Amino acid sequence: TPPPAPANMLESREEDPALRPKHMKEMIGQRSVYERIRVAVDAAMMRGEPLGHILLDGPPGLGKTTFATCIPRDLGVELQIASGAALAAPKDLLPYLTNAQEGSVLFIDEIHRLPKAVEEFMYPAMEDFRIDITLGEGVNARTVNMNLRPFTMIGATTRTGLLSAPLRDRFQIREHLEFYTDEELTTIVLRNAAILKCPVEEAAARKIAGCSRGTPRVVNNRLRWVRDFATSRADGEVTLEVAEKALAMSGVDSLGLDRQDRSYLETILRVFNGGPAGVDAIAHTLNTAPDTLTDEVEPFLLREGLVVRTSRGRKITNRGYEHLGETPPEAPAG
Ligand code: ATP
Repeated sequence: TPPPAPANMLESREEDPALRPKHMKEMIGQRSVYERIRVAVDAAMMRGEPLGHILLDGPPGLGKTTFATCIPRDLGVELQIASGAALAAPKDLLPYLTNAQEGSVLFIDEIHRLPKAVEEFMYPAMEDFRIDITLGEGVNARTVNMNLRPFTMIGATTRTGLLSAPLRDRFQIREHLEFYTDEELTTIVLRNAAILKCPVEEAAARKIAGCSRGTPRVVNNRLRWVRDFATSRADGEVTLEVAEKALAMSGVDSLGLDRQDRSYLETILRVFNGGPAGVDAIAHTLNTAPDTLTDEVEPFLLREGLVVRTSRGRKITNRGYEHLGETPPEAPAG
């Protein structure tokens, strides 16, 4: 069976396709990553050769999929999209590899979830553009070699640490996406408000940006909520006052933390006396998956210095105590 049409998959995972940049030059922020990928893309185009394999890592919503969709569009080549979680056996990957046109891009999201057998099947495909297929079973089994058309693999992962070294080393370009500055997020709010035809005051845009955990996906969600609030509770214009009221109503605080972030902090504080507490125990108490905490909740809280990771688990810092309106204990936490 041929792989699903990329367009369908993208639409189903995209909150608002109009807001996703179409070309790399429309992307805001991530300048040094952008510049390095740009050099590689330009060189590949000038030489008429396929672009080297690219690995992107970083917390969710920072633009890994956006890069992976912009790059082939800039190159003028086809894109196929697969998810590491859905590729259970080499045969699931086979149609993607054999369908790949010369120079086209195969994007594998959540590449750290690939089972070992699929990963090993991929090595010769990535390195020499060939695969070894086993036909028949038992004593009659034989391996045939099949050549592929040279293609570019783009892998995305929330944690590079989960990738095996042999897989990681097969990517010529490895880039880490960082959280965005408030300045960059403000630019995204203003750009996207214009696309949504929603009038937004500059001060309101800055407010929304500052409450978005350094993450474009969050900025887009907050903007959409504030816009709804402006339509239903005001005259449609997003003033600073409207933005503040809307954000307060949705439970977003001054640092941009939402209810999930605060329950995580409160659990460490109240249930585990400030920590250290293991991530599994915290996840259990919150009735959520440990991966959700490590991948989605913790990166921003760690960056903001509200919690620290120690060898014995997570600990709330003085800043964390203060953010929750509590007095830190005598001995410095963290
Ligand atoms: P996940 O790992 O959860 O798939 P991701 O890192 O792939 O997340 P994207 O889907 O690329 O994140 O980004 C989420 C949304 O944020 C996009 O739909 C897009 O609208 C916006 N976005 C991401 N990066 C940028 C950028 N550099 N400039 C403008 N908008 C961006």
